[in-house]
Amino acid sequence: MADAYDLIVIGAGPGGYVAAIRAAQLGLKTAIVEREHLGGICLNWGCIPTKALLRSADVYRLARAAGEYGLTVGETGFDLAKIVQRSRDVAGKLNSGVGFLLKKNGIATIFGEATIAARGEVQVAPTRKPPVTPQFPAPAGALGAGVYRAKHIIVATGARPRVLPGLESDGRLVWTYFDALKPATAPKSLLVVGAGAIGVEFASFYRTFGAEVTLVEALDRILPAEDAEIAALARKAFEKQGVVIHTGARVEALEKGADSVVATLKMADGGTQRVVADRLLSAAGVVANVEHLGLEALGVALERGVVKTDGLGRTNVPGVYAIGDVAGGPMLAHKAEHEGVACVEAIAGLSPHALDVLRVPGCTYSHPQIASVGLSEARAKEGGREVKIGRFPLRANGKAIALGEPEGLVKTIFDAKSGRLLGAHLIGAEATELVQGFVIAMGLETTEEELMHTIFPHPTLSEAMHESVLDAFARAIHI
Ligand code: FAD
Repeated sequence: MADAYDLIVIGAGPGGYVAAIRAAQLGLKTAIVEREHLGGICLNWGCIPTKALLRSADVYRLARAAGEYGLTVGETGFDLAKIVQRSRDVAGKLNSGVGFLLKKNGIATIFGEATIAARGEVQVAPTRKPPVTPQFPAPAGALGAGVYRAKHIIVATGARPRVLPGLESDGRLVWTYFDALKPATAPKSLLVVGAGAIGVEFASFYRTFGAEVTLVEALDRILPAEDAEIAALARKAFEKQGVVIHTGARVEALEKGADSVVATLKMADGGTQRVVADRLLSAAGVVANVEHLGLEALGVALERGVVKTDGLGRTNVPGVYAIGDVAGGPMLAHKAEHEGVACVEAIAGLSPHALDVLRVPGCTYSHPQIASVGLSEARAKEGGREVKIGRFPLRANGKAIALGEPEGLVKTIFDAKSGRLLGAHLIGAEATELVQGFVIAMGLETTEEELMHTIFPHPTLSEAMHESVLDAFARAIHI
């Protein structure tokens, strides 16, 4: 039997590798098992490569609008293969960066597929799962198949695309996000099923490069996790760009042709509509990787398809923990990282705070960007709570006008009695960077007075955050 560790982490995504590094910092002898790619979905097939693609879309959009800024550029065009290659290169760089960090922190990397054979015992076999290609090389110097022992085992195995019946990916006509990240050619038309952050980001990317995009969402609005007012503004912005949006609609049937699909949609009014598209992207969320890990035999409790934990990653079985996507939503990289750190600190005897999901920001990096933290207006008003709401449009913000991006809104929601910031919702330029100001304010339990007295640099988009807070208390200056 191989080495005994204090901690073995299964899965080297943002949850797993961050947990392993924090454990090493705290002096725990740590190993991490990964079956496919260091950095997990996030670095290889999620957060990072999508943002690299969307950066190309932003540059393309700006290049095409150069005349509005007094610039003359030559003919604009794009080379999809190069855009995809840039995205893969960015992912590859970060993948090897994780290998470097693990090594630097003295963490043993084990390459293979892990199962928890018994409490304290991890069995690693050669990876069975067919790899997503192109694949980055396995970490140099990694240990291989064998049985490894540890006092504590963290399951950080992430999630995979949800498969809707009839919309199983074939990698050719029906895509998952893996296929959408590395298209061989640019589709002239794309049907995106699911209008959460992933679906909306791909809709935005492909629309920018000229595809006729239809976005279908089963719920009554796009970006269902966002505040309804912000989601409505997002819808308006995408429709203005030419994205066709159907909410309250589902794909009822799909016919595949030689190089296109015909989808029959069941519409909100009960009628049907046919949509012809070159490709269909199924972006109906993800499901947790809870299978083939030995969890059932150990008696680890699951709840609605994810491992049930106590907010510090502890399951019902002592010595077995779960973090990140496999432990439930919000299924976001920063939630996985935060949970990983808290879990390990608790194992090491520190007193971390349990995860507060209301303080997990959500971001969609489309054009326009959308970001939020805390309660939506509807949820804040649930139970009869009285609220004060501030709104500040970017068209009244000097920096947004100077940037040529005057469309957007910052909306803040306060408890009318206590003045507590309950939620903040942004749409428009750099919303995904700005939201962090509100996340910090909420984390520090800042009062509305403190926020109003804070000095925001001029001219910045962040002034719209200040004005939104002022507006909630009828003190906005610039509207
Ligand atoms: P993962 O990143 O999924 O990592 C789990 C790892 O475990 C994988 O590497 C897997 O190979 C490994 N593994 C699984 N089973 C085993 C086993 N038995 N043995 C060994 N290894 C195993 N989130 C954001 O916060 N911001 C974004 O902008 C964002 N964009 C996204 C875009 C897309 C297209 C997608 C799909 C997701 C996006 N996400 C984003 C979500 C984000 O990627 C996930 O929330 C995050 O990766 C979860 O981290 P994790 O560590 O829990 O799991």
